[in-house]
Amino acid sequence: MEYWNPRIEKIPADELRKMQYKLLKMLVYRLYNFSPYYRRKFKKHNITPDDIKNCEDVSKLPFTYKKDLRDNYPDKMFAVPQQEIVRYHVSSGTTGKPTIVAYTQQDINLWTESLARSLTACGIGRGNIIQISYGYGLFTGGLGLHYGAERVGASVIPTGTGNTERQIELMQDMKVNSIACTPSYMIHMAEKAENLGISIKNDTNLKIAILGAEPWSEKTRQRIEDELGIDAYDIYGMSEFNGPMFTECSEKSGIHIWGDHMLVEVVDPKTGEVLEEGEEGELVVTTLQKEALPLIRYRTGDITELYQDLCECGRAHQRIARIKGRADDMLIIRGINVFPSQIEYVLMQTREVGKHFQLVVERDGALDKMTVRVEVSTEAFSDKINDMIALKNRIKDRLKHFLNINTEVELLEPGSLPRFEGKAKRIIDKREF
Ligand code: ADP
Ligand code: ZN
Repeated sequence: MEYWNPRIEKIPADELRKMQYKLLKMLVYRLYNFSPYYRRKFKKHNITPDDIKNCEDVSKLPFTYKKDLRDNYPDKMFAVPQQEIVRYHVSSGTTGKPTIVAYTQQDINLWTESLARSLTACGIGRGNIIQISYGYGLFTGGLGLHYGAERVGASVIPTGTGNTERQIELMQDMKVNSIACTPSYMIHMAEKAENLGISIKNDTNLKIAILGAEPWSEKTRQRIEDELGIDAYDIYGMSEFNGPMFTECSEKSGIHIWGDHMLVEVVDPKTGEVLEEGEEGELVVTTLQKEALPLIRYRTGDITELYQDLCECGRAHQRIARIKGRADDMLIIRGINVFPSQIEYVLMQTREVGKHFQLVVERDGALDKMTVRVEVSTEAFSDKINDMIALKNRIKDRLKHFLNINTEVELLEPGSLPRFEGKAKRIIDKREF
């Protein structure tokens, strides 16, 4: 078992908790005294640093919302003078006006350290040749992983997104054995390779993929791993807390959140009440060491749960479950709550289905109606209308059986839905609110 920073990664759970308490106390003290934004907020809620007596006291602190970042756009929440800032990024703006995030040199160092630990846990280090196919620029993915991969001593090829044929050529010529990109881009790249007569499994050296920045299901992982002959690891992060930061370890059972960097809670998305480990809810994060844009109890909007048991890998740092989606991605179809990732899970269990799908939600009178548009795999696609009707009904039945929702299913020819180089856009919501 390889560790990047064994001293911190193998710290016993109780010592880690003590360390988190000290860092939390220091953070509240720093913000109370030096951040006009948080000082105002703490005063409004009658909070002083003396109120923090243990880690659990984090729940006394007020939440921070994405709206706060938008209302204080572009820089009123920054906690250091501009002279201290060495970089800015901008969030992808999936859910509205993008927000700007800032980094001091120390923030960049900590982000890089976090990824160095995570990449090592995924088996990437000196000797690996890694292609970074995340967007470089305002998006955090490219530069974040770039710094992390260089830190562990891997040879980095900064391809960014796009020009997929050239990427495949480089992958072959440079004997690339690892890649970081969105799961949808990984699938797109594999298809493109196949069209060029290249099998990622047999004709390249690719062995490890670090996939994230969007929800994907366990079934999709299994299909990617089997078809491409690789190990695929989930990576999670958001620009508000630097960018991609945390991954699974070799156990592939939950994403380790480095506890010296971030304190995590899961709360009921409606009431804000703190939930127990094992209960599903919204992830709330407190950044323990960030300087330029510290976040107190930030509501990520992402749905997950905290795992209770210790990981077999020996790291006591808490794990979260694969992100199910954003709270605002949840669809309510005739009263039943469903996440696109659950639909994906059911679809990917059906052998005849390809990897691309789209969900169209519209209003049918007073009721919501959902159509699942899904590509059939090349092998299964048939001119025989009866075969296609049977497949369609099978998918409908499965969705009904597993998720208890009634959907329309539309089968499409392979290659007919749009492909994505960054985050996939899968929901077309035609309802008017
Ligand atoms: P934006 O919020 O504008 O899309 P980001 O690029 O910072 O900007 O995206 C962060 C979001 O992407 C997270 O809050 C989460 O919803 C999603 N995300 C990132 N990584 C994953 C992952 N591994 N699984 C599921 N969702 C993810
Ligand atoms: Zn582990």
